[in-house]
Amino acid sequence: MPEQLIVTGGLLIDPAVRIEAVRDVLIEDGKISAVGTGLSRKSALKGVPAIDAKGKWVIPGLVDMHVHLREPGREGDETIETGTKAAARGGVTTVLAMANTEPVTDTASQLAFLRAKARTDAAITVLFAGAVTVGQKGERLTEFAKLRAAGAAALSDDGRPVMNAGLLRRALEYADDLGLLVIDHCEDLTLSNGACVHEGATALRKGLKGAPGAAETVQVLRDIALAQLTGARLHIAHVSTSASVEAIRTAKKNGVRISAEAAPHHFALIDKDMPGYDADWKMNPPLRSGEDRQALLEGLADGTLDAIATDHAPHGCASKALGMDLAPFGVIGLETSLAVALTDLFHKKVLTRRKLVERMSMGPAALLGLKHKGTLAPGADADLVVVDPDAAWTPAAPFFSKSRNTPFAGRRLKGRALTTLSAGRVVHAL
Ligand SMILES: [Zn+2]
Repeated sequence: MPEQLIVTGGLLIDPAVRIEAVRDVLIEDGKISAVGTGLSRKSALKGVPAIDAKGKWVIPGLVDMHVHLREPGREGDETIETGTKAAARGGVTTVLAMANTEPVTDTASQLAFLRAKARTDAAITVLFAGAVTVGQKGERLTEFAKLRAAGAAALSDDGRPVMNAGLLRRALEYADDLGLLVIDHCEDLTLSNGACVHEGATALRKGLKGAPGAAETVQVLRDIALAQLTGARLHIAHVSTSASVEAIRTAKKNGVRISAEAAPHHFALIDKDMPGYDADWKMNPPLRSGEDRQALLEGLADGTLDAIATDHAPHGCASKALGMDLAPFGVIGLETSLAVALTDLFHKKVLTRRKLVERMSMGPAALLGLKHKGTLAPGADADLVVVDPDAAWTPAAPFFSKSRNTPFAGRRLKGRALTTLSAGRVVHAL
C-alpha cells in the first residue's frame, strides 16, 4: 500500500496550472497523485489520514533561492538542521544555500559533503550553490563542470560581488553552456566602501556612513551589459534600488536573459524605520528610501522582480552587539517571509494571492529549473503549505533559527503557515 495523506477542502492556489478553487489534494509516497473535488468521500480513500484545510489556502511550498545556512564553519549561528526547521515553520520547502561558508563551497568534494549532510539533517529540500571564484576571492574561476556534476544548483559568490567584469563574462559563458544559473550580488565595493546604511538623510542625521544606491545600480547595469554581450542567463540577488528595478525592467523588454529577486526587509521597511542604532537592522544592501521601496513594490507587481528571497543571514547576538559600524551585515528571514509578504503585499493589495504564489514558489522554482516544485499538479513533489492568510501574530525570540537578528521582531503581522509538508511529510504544524 502506498503511504497516503489527503488535504481536504482548502482553497488551492496553483498558478502553474491556473487553479484557484476549492480542491482536495491526494498525496501518495511523497508526490501529488490527484487533485479534485470530493476526493475525501471516495470509498477507496476511507481511512486515509486527512488534514482539514477548510477556510484556508493550500499552496505549493515556498522556494527561497537565497539563504545562508552557515554550515560548515559557523554552526554556532545556524546549521542545516536549524535553518531548515526555521524554513519549514515559515512555509519554505526548498532553499538554495549560498557558498560563502567557511571554508567557501568551491569544490566538488565540499558539495558532496554538504549534500550528504543535508540528506541526514534537513527538514526540507536543500540545494547548494557553488562559488563562482576560488575562495570567493574574485581571482580564478572554480571548476564549473565538476561543481555541476557534484550537484551544484547554481553558481554565486554571494556575500561578495564579482568585481572583475572580464572574469564574470567568462563565468557567464561557461555557466550557460552547462545550464547553470549565475547569481550575482551587485555591489561596487569602491562605492559602498564598508558603509553600514543607505546614503541619505537618515544616515546623515544618525552620523552613520552611508552607501549610495548607485553602489548597487552601477553593477546591475554592468551585469545587464554582460548578459547582453554573452547571451547568457544572469540573476540579480537582493535588488534594493529604484534605478536597479528600472534598469532590469528595460533590459527584460530588450530581451536580455536577466532575472531578479527582492527581499522582504527591502519591500517592507525603509532606512527611516530603523530604531536608534540597532544592528539587527543592518544588512547588505541596506534598507533604502521610501521611493526605492515603492519601486520594488511596482517591480514585484509587474514581474520585473521574479522572486521573493529572504537572504536569510544568521548572526549571533555577540557579533550583532558590536554596534552599527562593526556588526556583520545580515538578518534572518525564513520564519517571517511569508507573513511579511502577506502583510505588506497581499493585504495591502500590491499582489493578488496568485501573484504572491508566483513570486514565492512558482517563479523561483522555474529560475532554478525545478520541474517538480512550485506547483501541486499530479506528479509534483508533495511540498505543500496550508496558510491562514488572516492569522495575526507577532514574531519574537526564541526562533527556530539559532539566531534572532531580525528587524521584524515585535512587528504585528497578518498571515502565516499553519502546516508545512515536505515530500508528503509534515515538517511543521502549528
Ligand atoms: Zn548578497
